[in-house]
Amino acid sequence: MSGKVNPFTIAQQQLDVAAEKLGLDPATHELLRWPMQEIKVVLPVKMDDGTTRIFHAFRVQYNTARGPAKGGVRWHPDETLDTVRALAAWMTWKTSVVDIPLGGGKGGIVCNPKELSETEKERLARAYVRAIGRALGVTKDVPAPDVYTTPQIMAWMMDEYETMVGEKHPGVITGKPLPLGGSQGRIDATARGGIYVTREAAKVFGINLQGGTMAVQGFGNAGQHAALLGEEILGLKLVAASDSKGAVYNPSGIKAKALVDHKLKHDTLKGFPEAEEIPREALLELDVTVLFPCALENAITKENAPRVRCRILCELANGPTTPEADEILYDKGVVVLPDFLANAGGVTVSYFEQVQNAYNFYWELRDVHQRLDDKMTNAFRGVYEMSRREKVNMRQAAYLVAVARVAEACKLRGWV
Ligand code: NAD
Repeated sequence: MSGKVNPFTIAQQQLDVAAEKLGLDPATHELLRWPMQEIKVVLPVKMDDGTTRIFHAFRVQYNTARGPAKGGVRWHPDETLDTVRALAAWMTWKTSVVDIPLGGGKGGIVCNPKELSETEKERLARAYVRAIGRALGVTKDVPAPDVYTTPQIMAWMMDEYETMVGEKHPGVITGKPLPLGGSQGRIDATARGGIYVTREAAKVFGINLQGGTMAVQGFGNAGQHAALLGEEILGLKLVAASDSKGAVYNPSGIKAKALVDHKLKHDTLKGFPEAEEIPREALLELDVTVLFPCALENAITKENAPRVRCRILCELANGPTTPEADEILYDKGVVVLPDFLANAGGVTVSYFEQVQNAYNFYWELRDVHQRLDDKMTNAFRGVYEMSRREKVNMRQAAYLVAVARVAEACKLRGWV
């Protein structure tokens, strides 16, 4: 997200296009271009060696017309206020497109967690919540894990918040460990949501998945579960996977579980016995039924898009396709399932976690899966119908659905 292009400028431009198409009045358009509340704090934290380090941190509550702000907290050395603003805007559209009663938010601490001990991480997590805690709450703003933040960090944050308010409020944060009120099914929720929308897309676009092939770029949390569930639920055959160190390929098929085991054991895909090594970039150009980009942003650009040959591109990563590449893929007839629809399974199960915390009643795994399926299927259908009606691609359609809902909520509240 760092680099020359300001991600918040991109987020505003994407909104501008949707606003024009929807014919939003100028006040609503302007309201949706900006975060409604931003908090910037400076955190002095004691290090293990007795020195004190100063950390800069943010929390952005972008829009809360549809419900409390919702979004992760990233710990990253390159974090900026504009990155957090952009991510908070995208969370607003993501919660809206899957129609859960939440707004959008995001947080960030500028730090390198790889340089911090566990005790330093705990003090940093608690300092963050002490500084911004008054703006958090189950009815105000609910953080979650994101880049380099873990269920353990969520547990410390929840504990600090509960200490501040003197009451139990597990729903103040999601992505918690199971013994502290986490939800069943959170671990593979992002990939599972993407698998459900891929299934729905295949139905309406007449693509046969059973016996088809898939390639997975980025064999981390999202990518590994996409491979396992693509095999189990969709009947796809995994033919290639990549990580930051390289890619492996076998046109006759790779058992997803065997490759996951190999990756977990060796921390690399290299050396997997039943596949040949190919250049990482070649994976994106394989002739497969479904391609899952699950690594970083800007993987598919105007340079390689003309050579992309998948039928469905299911964006589990955030921002894997540049706007120019998007148009090329659309012209080629590739079905692109846009990131904030395709990877919304994670935030949807986070919402389920909050609901379970509120009722103090916990669901079976099968209930989580069924409700996630219903949410993702309905979201897909809404976006697909919009794309047909307005004759736009799936990404533009997802923006139209999401922005229209937030605009309507702002209007109903009498804000504009
Ligand atoms: P992760 O760190 O577990 O996995 C990322 C993987 O990508 C790693 O295996 C890494 O080696 C690989 N990678 C990095 N650069 C690569 C490259 N150039 N080519 C091939 N592989 C490369 O992260 P994750 O949680 O799986 O998230 C992946 C993407 O999905 C991110 O864009 C993230 O924002 C998005 N996402 C994840 C979730 C979630 O719940 N995990 C939710 C929403 C969105």
